[in-house]
Amino acid sequence: MKYFYVLVFFVFFSCKDGGKQPIEEEQDSEVIVYEEYSGEEPTTPEETELYKPVPPVVQTYPRGSAPSDAIVLFNNNSLNEWVSVENPEVPAEWIINPDSSFTVKNKSGDIRTKKEFGDIQLHLEWKSPAEIQGENQSRANSGVFLQGRYEVQILDNNTNDTYVNGQVASIYKQHIPLAKASVPSGKWNSYDIIYHAPEFNKRGGKIKSATITVLHNGVLVQDHVEIKGTTPYIGWPKNEAHGKAPIILQDHGDNSRVSFRNIWVRELK
Ligand code: MG
Repeated sequence: MKYFYVLVFFVFFSCKDGGKQPIEEEQDSEVIVYEEYSGEEPTTPEETELYKPVPPVVQTYPRGSAPSDAIVLFNNNSLNEWVSVENPEVPAEWIINPDSSFTVKNKSGDIRTKKEFGDIQLHLEWKSPAEIQGENQSRANSGVFLQGRYEVQILDNNTNDTYVNGQVASIYKQHIPLAKASVPSGKWNSYDIIYHAPEFNKRGGKIKSATITVLHNGVLVQDHVEIKGTTPYIGWPKNEAHGKAPIILQDHGDNSRVSFRNIWVRELK
């Protein structure tokens, strides 16, 4: 009799789920298959060693200079690669300093590169003044705009909090940086940026978002994030179709103005 009750107990709980085994979720998800790694398993190391295509040699020394295949946008005493945004016929009028850097000339307006770019690796160095003034968004605010539209914020956030999606190294009003990696005011910061441009169809609709990775002083602060459109101060991101476009540096009009040096770019395609 005892065995009868055990049997009833087992049947009852089996029938609650219709007697079926749970289906693992993984069975419903897509699985990545690598065609090149299918077929017969190699048995020697040589079978998985490639010798082509050979990557080009890029000279990266001495430290602080641009790689040999980069387009140098500023590394000496000339702003020849830059013009006014307001009037591209007018050369950039920002101030050249004796130490091979240049500084925002207040209320002279944003400047842009003469050249236009798509996918790029961008390096630039910037600093705020040691004697810093202002607070919130008015403390050595500038910015680097990829394709003239998408801002990576430059700001002195040292002892100066602001909204976090507008702080230094944010993708302005879209992505909070993963860390705050600023050096003290008056010291040089570096940005290393990997940027892939958005793609649009023939009707002007966006079919692929731009993506961006940013290292601030060597620290990962934006990890391949999707840029959702333009980065306006007021309003939603916009997504009008565009092709290659210049890099813009921002004159925010602050009393404490940002300086730049050693700017170079490598085109990625
Ligand atoms: Mg800014």
